[in-house]
Amino acid sequence: MSEIKAMSERKAVSSIKRLLIANRGEIACRVIRTCKKLGIESVAVFSDADRRARHVQQADLACHIGGAAASESYLNAQAIIDAALKVKADAIHPGYGFLSESTQLISLCNKHGIIFVGPTVESIAAMGSKIEAKLIAQQLDIPTVPGYNGDNQDLAFLQGQAEKIGFPLLIKASAGGGGKGMRIVHQIGEFREALTLARQEALNAFGDDRVLLEKYIVRPRHIEVQLLGDEHGNVVHLFDRECSIQRNYQKVIEEAPVSQMDSAVRQQLFDCAVRLGRHLRYRGAGTVEFIFDADAQRAYFLEMNTRLQVEHPTTELVLGLDLVELQIRVANGEALPFNQNDLQPRGHAIEARVNAEDPANKYLPEIGTLQLYREPVAEGLRIDSGVQQGSEITPFYDSMLAKVIAYGDTRGLAAQRLLHGLNNFAIGGVKTNQEFLTSLITRPAFHQELSTQYISREFPNGWQPWGEQMHMAIAAAAWGLEQETAANVAMSGTPWQRLGAWRLTTPAGTPAMARLWLQQPDGLVEIQIAGQHGHYKVSSIKKSPKNEVLDSAAFSIVLQRPSVDMPAGLQQQWAVELDGTRRSLDIVIRDRQVSLSSPRLRRSYRFMGLEESQLGNAAALKNASNTIRARMPGLITDVLVQAGDKVEEGSTAVVMEAMKLIHNLPCPVTGTVKQVQVAPGDKVEDGSLLIEIEPAE
Ligand code: ADP
Ligand code: ADP
Ligand code: MG
Repeated sequence: MSEIKAMSERKAVSSIKRLLIANRGEIACRVIRTCKKLGIESVAVFSDADRRARHVQQADLACHIGGAAASESYLNAQAIIDAALKVKADAIHPGYGFLSESTQLISLCNKHGIIFVGPTVESIAAMGSKIEAKLIAQQLDIPTVPGYNGDNQDLAFLQGQAEKIGFPLLIKASAGGGGKGMRIVHQIGEFREALTLARQEALNAFGDDRVLLEKYIVRPRHIEVQLLGDEHGNVVHLFDRECSIQRNYQKVIEEAPVSQMDSAVRQQLFDCAVRLGRHLRYRGAGTVEFIFDADAQRAYFLEMNTRLQVEHPTTELVLGLDLVELQIRVANGEALPFNQNDLQPRGHAIEARVNAEDPANKYLPEIGTLQLYREPVAEGLRIDSGVQQGSEITPFYDSMLAKVIAYGDTRGLAAQRLLHGLNNFAIGGVKTNQEFLTSLITRPAFHQELSTQYISREFPNGWQPWGEQMHMAIAAAAWGLEQETAANVAMSGTPWQRLGAWRLTTPAGTPAMARLWLQQPDGLVEIQIAGQHGHYKVSSIKKSPKNEVLDSAAFSIVLQRPSVDMPAGLQQQWAVELDGTRRSLDIVIRDRQVSLSSPRLRRSYRFMGLEESQLGNAAALKNASNTIRARMPGLITDVLVQAGDKVEEGSTAVVMEAMKLIHNLPCPVTGTVKQVQVAPGDKVEDGSLLIEIEPAE
């Protein structure tokens, strides 16, 4: 931190007195913070959806720039320039995403004499296309992933190239970013359709449908090098970061510096990055991304991001620098205040992206009001966020709410602080991925060599919130149902009446076995428990009706109810011992609804017994089998069937665009289309009925 202080004590930024931030959310707030430190007036811009957003409240001035859709506001370069001219801003900081890599915005800045806080238009143009970026890297003898990155975009030609490269391979949008426009192809038969989808996605998202082909690396690590350059020809690297923990090609956990990496390889990456930076005469902050093939022990250039990155705080913490200040000073024409030899990372930093999403339900983004929002405060913990209590989470933008960044002398300490930070971050009103993030950093594999397959390997059946709370809830449900059964037995004299809930199978001498079902957003989960009177052993957790095993690890729970008997439904402190660890927790059991609460969590689980679960399953099966529903909010781009059409199971019926990806929605059964509820151009909600099919006999 001493270096940050030393830097701010340098002279004032002479040519930038008022800076407009062409962004929103977390990164807008982050830039405003440095503006305040430097005595620069900050100007926020906002769309219709962001009138009361935190970045608008924090800035000194704010300009309305258009409608809620990003294309009408944050992606509208002319509207942003108009705002900058209106308030006489000297400079524009683009943040990340949106127009941060737009040559149009820089050209407009240049035309109107506004300083763009970022690299030159030439650097952005050269690196904005992955095809061209790879060509430049190849000229500089920087290893690139084997594949095809040429001008010929002809289908037959690309197919030929694909056969040459071999499978699996990756089709990538040349203009891609944020993991969009990428498709994996396992065999030549899939190539044509994957190419069509990748091109459509690329055209929709980036207005450019050129693609490149790359060999798909099976066990890759994502390693990147932070660069910084000034207009006096200085280029230094700010060491490396590892961002291997990804989902859908998007980073989830990032850290600095890279651990478990051969020092010769690291040095090679630093050298390659700096060589590229010098070639571009790079100005400002940028990141050179590499993919490290753990099988071949080789690293290849992936792309360069000519902007600040989401994970920049990890580098800031290990170097004690303020990258936004450095960006602003470089844009002001100043030389870098240090040489390469002045820099040495200290300690370790790990960042986790907290998103409004439901990891237990396909990570669908959540919208709603943040009824509760309290950030954790602790030593070695930094929170970069763009929301506050009461903020509206709308469907128009990214689902990232905040970043939790932990620092420690060692990686282990940073991870522990991160865990503590995530656990003590109180967010209510929308679901978040906090628990998912904590499970990522508490797996033993987190301390071994990472790979971008981390999440799929650790959670082969998808992530489920089978955390401690879940286990406790299961025990509480078992206890509740046991009481219910006991009451029934007492009333009727026979355990086999009205007994859907708690089916006892008790051969002499063995403890009672029970099955109960937990209601989850995407179906029922069946749990088998043995035991009685508060001592239970959970033997399996399966997704019913398909019998897909979610967890077969046996664990035992001892539940001790409060010593004073209270009527059911009242909150009571229970002692729960889970695999030997004991803690106290408030538990309410009412009508098969189990609510747990502790200072940092309030969660309810709905359980059901046999009869109810069978009804539920039948209904779910029936519904699932003859309708196509939207699984997330989106835009219908094509409808390929009409009422009366005969359709085959698996054939595409509807094409929809959601979260910038193109989804082909297949017919769930063979049959006849009964009704079509949508047309191209329709916006649909999550769960909307799109197509109904009359199954063939
Ligand atoms: P990083 O800064 O670590 O590379 P991402 O790649 O996830 O992080 O991108 C940062 C943000 O910018 C994300 O919100 C992502 O959706 C968005 N983004 C990145 N590149 C582009 C692009 N070319 N076009 C539109 N959005 C982008
Ligand atoms: P984006 O512009 O969307 O960030 P990148 O080229 O940086 O695109 O790739 C994003 C992620 O996709 C990488 O971090 C990596 O996990 C994965 N990826 C990219 N190229 C390959 C490849 N050839 N083989 C395997 N995974 C890849
Ligand atoms: Mg990338």
